Amino acid sequence: MQANGTRVVTPSAEAQVTVADTTSGFGVAQGNRAEATILLPARPGPVEQYAAQEIVEHIEKVSGVRLSIKNETGNETTAPGEQRFISVGLTRAFQRAMEQGAIRARKWPANPRFDALTSTLRNAVKEGPLAQFPANGYLVRTVGDTLFLVGRDDNGNPLQDTVSAGTLFAAYEWIEKQLGVRWVWPGELGTHVPRASRVISGRWDVQSRPPLLSTQMTLTIGRTLFSSIEGGYTPEQRKLVEQNEAAWYRRNRFARAINLNYGGHAFEDYWDRFGATHPEYFNLLPDGKRRPSINSRVIGMSVANPGFQKQVIEDWKKERSAERPWINAVENDTSGLCVCAECIAWDVPDPELEVPWEHRLEYARRAFEANERLWHRYLGSLSDRYARYMLAIQHLARETDPQATVLGYGYLNYRKPPLATKLNSNIVVGIIPEAPAPLSYLWPLNKKASQDFENEWKGWDKSGVSLYLRPNYLLSGHEQPLVFPHQVAKYFQTAYKHGLIATNYDSLTSMWSTQGPNLYVAARLHWRPDWPVEKILDEYYSLFGPAAREVRNYFEFWENHSEKRGEEVVEQLAGPYLPHTRDLVLKWGHFYRVASLIFTPTEFATAERHLTAAKAAARGDEAALRRVAFLEAGLKDAQLVARASAIEMKLEQSGDTDSMSRIVTAIDDHRKEVVKAFPHALNLDVAAFNENKSWDRSIYRAMSQAHGAQKLPVEGWTLRWDPEQRGAQDQWYRQPGNAADWHAIEIAKPWEKQEIGRKWKAEHQTDYDGWAWYRVKFKVDEKRRGQQLSLLFGAVDESATVYVNGREVGVRKFATSNDWRTPFFIEVNDALKFGQENELVVRVEDKSGDGGIWKPVWLIERRAG
Ligand SMILES: [Zn+2]
Repeated sequence: MQANGTRVVTPSAEAQVTVADTTSGFGVAQGNRAEATILLPARPGPVEQYAAQEIVEHIEKVSGVRLSIKNETGNETTAPGEQRFISVGLTRAFQRAMEQGAIRARKWPANPRFDALTSTLRNAVKEGPLAQFPANGYLVRTVGDTLFLVGRDDNGNPLQDTVSAGTLFAAYEWIEKQLGVRWVWPGELGTHVPRASRVISGRWDVQSRPPLLSTQMTLTIGRTLFSSIEGGYTPEQRKLVEQNEAAWYRRNRFARAINLNYGGHAFEDYWDRFGATHPEYFNLLPDGKRRPSINSRVIGMSVANPGFQKQVIEDWKKERSAERPWINAVENDTSGLCVCAECIAWDVPDPELEVPWEHRLEYARRAFEANERLWHRYLGSLSDRYARYMLAIQHLARETDPQATVLGYGYLNYRKPPLATKLNSNIVVGIIPEAPAPLSYLWPLNKKASQDFENEWKGWDKSGVSLYLRPNYLLSGHEQPLVFPHQVAKYFQTAYKHGLIATNYDSLTSMWSTQGPNLYVAARLHWRPDWPVEKILDEYYSLFGPAAREVRNYFEFWENHSEKRGEEVVEQLAGPYLPHTRDLVLKWGHFYRVASLIFTPTEFATAERHLTAAKAAARGDEAALRRVAFLEAGLKDAQLVARASAIEMKLEQSGDTDSMSRIVTAIDDHRKEVVKAFPHALNLDVAAFNENKSWDRSIYRAMSQAHGAQKLPVEGWTLRWDPEQRGAQDQWYRQPGNAADWHAIEIAKPWEKQEIGRKWKAEHQTDYDGWAWYRVKFKVDEKRRGQQLSLLFGAVDESATVYVNGREVGVRKFATSNDWRTPFFIEVNDALKFGQENELVVRVEDKSGDGGIWKPVWLIERRAG
């Protein structure tokens, strides 16, 4: 940590004056006495108000002294004398100091890359003492017995990152350097507060702005994608977590002076809009057809087509606004696929292409005909095509706006820099780091991948564009200890050294207890871009006080392991087909399913020993012990999930749903406790969002009250429609009647989604609602005689009457709104025949929407009590 009482001179990349002598200045708090007052304007804006609160709160945490806040009356004629002030925001006192020449705002050095993009932006301040300040620019200045903290503020919510918050950033700069506070993870536990009996103002002379134009790590808590998930927070817990994260985010000074949130892929609705009228806008595939190759949303465009380009401009003219002034030209989420003459003519020979350039179309066509998924790799790098496309768009847009700015991606087969096309700084390109080609995934990032990235980034920088970093790698790893802070720093700093103007990280998944070093390094670099990663990690580890060394050992162990396994995975992927690795390990949302391939019990045992050592070192220091316990809570969760992954991978063969239900229940129980003690240890919503892809939690919860689950077949059932509701009276459960009336069906999905349901619809022009009868045969082992057996239904939509061997054994009524999707038990013991075939018949009554048995059924022994 930055100890109090040092002289800090930070030459920033912007060459602003930044001198902070923290060893002198006037007294702010001493013993238990306030020595200074916070001064606010008569009518402070929301940013000023919040900045003052933050200063008061942090001084109190450090010293125990709470300063009072005084609003100017607006009638002052002289500077406040006698007293010591921390003046926050555009006070009269500040304006007077400017007028009297006690403070002079210095000229901001020109920054061609920033200025080109900001000159037309909203909210440019036209007058007043901060007229020339850029968004989020600020000033910290000690004059006599007043400390001035002021900056360019918008009149909006200070926690919203699009709101310019210069005054707040001035306050944070002071709190960080003068008080030594660090915001390592959200909430009290993650905040480093050095206690001090004396607080002084420091002698400050700083005028600065954020090192990047726009910085973002997309918050996941509260984000629509995840908020529909019941991850296990109570509403109060979720609110607390959201508030703490928002505060942490702003304290680490994330801010967006320009908006890069254009939603990426720009033409996802084009096929619906123009597929019929303007097929020439779309990719010509090697089969001579212009059509979607995957689905209509990810169709590739014919970017060289002038009509398409004009349409892009028409859309922009209609939609552009002060918040979104730029042209979103980002190709849909696909490689460049068009082989039309116009596009092909725009390509520039790719020296790294594995086949002769003049024969590339033949190779591509042959691969396409052979259904090779990556057939387009024979087209080579299409970066010049896409560069020319961005230029063409810009050229057209300049008729409307001479400073028209175009937003694109360097991605997939246009990821390499263009070779022959000169671009300009009003073309903004997002570069997405990926695992080494041709993997094109988030992880593993190895040495080869980071070398590729460096070359690509530098090449794009030379092309003249404005560059932003758009990483996805923080999404990988689920909640496992996938630790790679050095890689995070390497990617960021490579970019920063070569023209980085902005970032947009997807996403801040907030697995603070297992991936803390990744997240803190990523966040901290946004404000201290040229700090060595070790300095940032020192800050992280020193939060653990006397256990700092042991916690460092702990995370370094995981980092070494993550790197080693990453390299092994890359090697394995080059070899023979490994279904689990290839299909799952590289997709971020499925990482939990293969966690046990990366993290084995051996490593977890070593990791536990590191934390045991950390606890021993922290003995007697309550705060350090709590922080180590925070890490332990995450480690235990990771261990349980890795174990679940090992069980689930064998589940198809083993059928061991008992173990699966026990482990999932254990994970949920563990999390209930964790979130009470450590609300920020894990992001429960993101965890559940991923895990629910394959873990049917409601069924596993039901199973945890039982054991010996025998799954009934999913296929091999038959179904008979009963629109006249005759089956009960005619006893179809005993006398099924004509075999031709019974049709094949399975129980993994509702009947509407199956052949038989579609046939009904074709014949009747409507989906079937009403009674239907399901039938299946299953064997019960002689050994189960004497057990209390039930059928566990995963879900039936809507009501069900259950018969076994001709006897009615139970009814499940659709009574509450969730009943169509919740599991239920029906006791069947007395009706079963042991050591032989049994017949199960279920009458389903569906009144509306989807219908049928749509999840598996098990025979299971319920636990007594
Ligand atoms: Zn084309």
